[in-house]
Amino acid sequence: MQSGTSIPPDEAAAREAADLAEALASPAPETIPAENTEPYDVPVRKIIHVDMDAFYASVEQRDNPELRGKPVAVGGSAARGVVAAASYEARVFGVHSAMASVTAKRKCPDLIFVKPRFEVYRSVSQQIREIFADYTPLIEPLSLDEAYLDVTENLKGMEIATEIAAEIRARIFAATGLTASAGISYNKFLAKMASDQRKPNGQFVITPKNGPAFVEALPVKKFHGVGPATAERMKKHGIETGLDLKMKPLAYLQQHFGKSGAYFHGIARGIDERRVRPDRIRKSVGAEDTFSEDISDLTRAEGELRPLAEKVWRYCEAHDISGKTVTVKIKYADFTQATRARTLPSNFGRIEDILAVADQLLATVHPFRRPVRLLGVTLSSLTSAGASSDSGDEPQLDFGL
Ligand SMILES: [Mg+2]
Repeated sequence: MQSGTSIPPDEAAAREAADLAEALASPAPETIPAENTEPYDVPVRKIIHVDMDAFYASVEQRDNPELRGKPVAVGGSAARGVVAAASYEARVFGVHSAMASVTAKRKCPDLIFVKPRFEVYRSVSQQIREIFADYTPLIEPLSLDEAYLDVTENLKGMEIATEIAAEIRARIFAATGLTASAGISYNKFLAKMASDQRKPNGQFVITPKNGPAFVEALPVKKFHGVGPATAERMKKHGIETGLDLKMKPLAYLQQHFGKSGAYFHGIARGIDERRVRPDRIRKSVGAEDTFSEDISDLTRAEGELRPLAEKVWRYCEAHDISGKTVTVKIKYADFTQATRARTLPSNFGRIEDILAVADQLLATVHPFRRPVRLLGVTLSSLTSAGASSDSGDEPQLDFGL
């Protein structure tokens, strides 16, 4: 998927980053109960993490019977393409999302590539969110196919969260023909970990009683918020399981993992105090395109900015958000890159204004020091489109995405 369809995979990555950023920001070390403190002196929350099974691929198999039972990858098969989603039949071969399409094809020669249809995924996503809304207003989407629900006090007056999860999954299947899995627990971290336990089309509960033991047994590389690089660093410190992590003092984790240390210290004990935040919006929306031929001419490069700005703006309109910072990314033929950004006093209200600023930013690096291989346009400092623009933005953390 080299061209422009980069928003949703980026979205997943951005969500992950935002989630981790939030995780790092919220549990200050002193709020994490010490080892022997009873952590449940606050009312226990009931959190459900709902996750559609192989979402994009399942939608394609639903809508095209010829794809059923076959290894399917949603994404581009071109040289620089990336797999956005893989069907379970493809996963058997080791194909997974974010894998280069070339690699995927090597692992599974019969792999069928299907172009993504994001408008369909968005409308299915809307259907499932309407079902969630029958149970609780506390819905925090992580992406089109995943959300946290806080059902502690739910609109149906149902006591048992596992029954709510089962009912929601049945309704999703009835409405969309698609299966979902669910994790039920007393915080977001554990609910997210739980939804992976019985995939596909299953659910799993982690109670306050068995939460700590569950985390102790789990490999840290499966932890939400621990990416491959962090897992590798933890391994060097002798940390491979939740129990290994729990054995390390807070100060040690902070020394070696910086701001993440406190988060890791908490989750090793099954403690995660992040709330389900229905109003969370992403921090940036970006689109970029790698050209089949490198570009040297300014006018041609400007012409390439328009479709990128249009994609960004369409996304913003669909989600009723806007921002006041435009960033243009320029990657050159030698893979070096430059970024130029400008922030307005208030949110952009028209695509023409975004384009005008993007053009000005691009002009500041012309004449190009090398032919241009890729251009990107990002809108950040996002708020809901109608909101006043001086509501303090959270600091953006750089996760090298
Ligand atoms: Mg999913």
